[in-house]
Amino acid sequence: MSPADPRTYDLEALRERVLPETGGAVDESIPQLAEASPDLCGIAVVLADGTVRASSQADVAFSVQSAVKPFLFALALLDTDGEALDRIGIEPTGEAFDAIKLESHTGRPPNPMVNAGALLTAALVDGDDPDARTERIVRGLSAFAGRDLEIDDEVARCEHLLGDRNHALAHLMRAEGTLEVGADDAVAVYARACAVLVDAQTLAVMGATLALGGVNPVTGERVVSARVARDVVSVMATCGVYDGSGRWMRSVGVPAKSSVSGAIVLSAPGLLGAAVVSPPLDEQGTSVRGRVVSERLSADLGLHVFGVP
Ligand code: GLN
Repeated sequence: MSPADPRTYDLEALRERVLPETGGAVDESIPQLAEASPDLCGIAVVLADGTVRASSQADVAFSVQSAVKPFLFALALLDTDGEALDRIGIEPTGEAFDAIKLESHTGRPPNPMVNAGALLTAALVDGDDPDARTERIVRGLSAFAGRDLEIDDEVARCEHLLGDRNHALAHLMRAEGTLEVGADDAVAVYARACAVLVDAQTLAVMGATLALGGVNPVTGERVVSARVARDVVSVMATCGVYDGSGRWMRSVGVPAKSSVSGAIVLSAPGLLGAAVVSPPLDEQGTSVRGRVVSERLSADLGLHVFGVP
């Protein structure tokens, strides 16, 4: 069967089809996430020509959480001229996103898609202090999004206060000499990056920018080089869904990043970006409906990177 045309593909029908799916549990790490509606479901797809397709609720705002990690990695690569690749591993861990573990022989974070790695990438972007780095990150994320993004300060505050494992990881990296900024500063900046507000439509534009070689298809702006985009999408493919990355690659076959807000950002190389948000999560912290939507989109639009047409 030939793939469906993404220009006319019925995202609303897909949304209706997954709504009855009620498995999974909403994250409770901070009050704002615990209050998210388990019924929220928004889907968006952004094509190479800048066409934005969206279901209902694709404009509902939520904090980006770990879906920010590919973009932090991209900004760190950009600002360090690729040197970030010497400072962070790129191997999958087979462990949870917040595992207190570094590479045993180097003390580096295992990869940029787990918390240890993202704490470091957020510390490697340009800026002499936490405020300057936060400002740089928000500006960089806004370029990926094609609009001015903002931080939810309450989410950032809770995340900073309650992120004990992130504080532990930052201190561990200080002890190993792999984190050069102060541990608390590193957690503060990472918490603010996780607290940036997006919606499914915005996240799909961001995913499309990575999928399409670093050029935002809506604004036409080159945000990062094709090389940086390729590096980031490669690591999304191997590490983006934590200890569920292997299963994800087999069944969905599209480089992606999951997050505790229930968002998933997908970058189908050379084709399109997509995003889905639905808060109930499975054991690996992947949105239950998000997975089903991603499998369906991949099958219907022919997105599996190893699929032979
Ligand atoms: N802010 C969350 C944390 O660091 C992000 C985790 C996630 O989305 N998996 O705990």
